[in-house]
Amino acid sequence: MAGLIERYRDRLPFAPGDPVITLDEGATPLVHAPRLSERLGGEVWLKIEGANPTGSFKDRGMTCAVSGAVRDGSTAVVCASTGNTAASAAAYAARAGITCAVIVPDGKIARGKLAQAVIHGARVVGLKGNFDEALRLVRELSQAHPIALVNSVNPLRIEGQKTAAFELIETLGPQRPLDALAISVGNAGNITAYWKGFSESADQIERMPKMLGFQAAGAAPLVLGHAVEQPETLASAIRIGDPARGEEALLAVSESGGAINSVTDEQILEAYRFLADQEGVFCEPSSAASVAGLLVHGLPEGVERIVCALTGHGLKDPETAIEIGEGIIPCEANLAAVETAVWG
Ligand SMILES: *Cc1c(COP(=O)(O)O)cnc(C)c1O
Repeated sequence: MAGLIERYRDRLPFAPGDPVITLDEGATPLVHAPRLSERLGGEVWLKIEGANPTGSFKDRGMTCAVSGAVRDGSTAVVCASTGNTAASAAAYAARAGITCAVIVPDGKIARGKLAQAVIHGARVVGLKGNFDEALRLVRELSQAHPIALVNSVNPLRIEGQKTAAFELIETLGPQRPLDALAISVGNAGNITAYWKGFSESADQIERMPKMLGFQAAGAAPLVLGHAVEQPETLASAIRIGDPARGEEALLAVSESGGAINSVTDEQILEAYRFLADQEGVFCEPSSAASVAGLLVHGLPEGVERIVCALTGHGLKDPETAIEIGEGIIPCEANLAAVETAVWG
């Protein structure tokens, strides 16, 4: 399968001769969720964005942002990150043979994401501050120096990420349009991108899906209507208090007749666990916020077929899984002990 730019070049701002930095991102599975469907009384599908090359949807945006940076002659890229943007930028920059610096909140990102950024050779800067401060600083940095900013404030990130909406339409087909998309919201780039993708495909679908965004209760500026000074949630990928694309996200929600709601960490973990042990799908806690939102708030009136965007892979954050999963049963190395251990 070709990468996104090749597959959707006619709908992306790239010309035929432009350099393409790709890891064959996109074309992720859309998996039916029978148990979740039963619980919610609808037809629920999971878009497994953790199946992207670096394990999150950020790769869709990054193939475009890094290709654009190379086209424009940049020899370095920079981003602020809660982890997945850093992992993705580091991988695509390595692929392009250019320098990458990532600014992350010190000690606040999941281990798997840190491992990726480090092994791909990025300069990893642990900021004594939160994501919002990191984003403000990299914006200043990229204005003062010839270094390309690859956060979702970069329009090419949105262009790449909108392709997830194209894939949903292709996979479900025009006869079976979805009624809604449930998605976790942090810096609000992804919900903006999906809405752009659906809007650009309006002529191919019978009706537009409602955008249902979910934020963590401790980091819910779009629900509260104001920035959150000290955002807190165990869902570290959406621990953002002042989303850069907040206004666009609210517009997507109102234009689509959707809603933005919040869910507690406890509700997020319940959904995270449900997906893993009832559907066999392991996503990261931040991704499970979308499913938590549906479990808590139910399907809106008139919504039957719905897709949950599961934004990142569970292996990104092994600590949380081990902490809340069933413990390990110690066992002597003989058959009787193993029988007892296995059957209890
Ligand atoms: C980045 C990210 C989000 C939030 O996406 P935004 O575009 O910042 O709203 C959600 N989940 C995961 C796993 C992420 O990496």
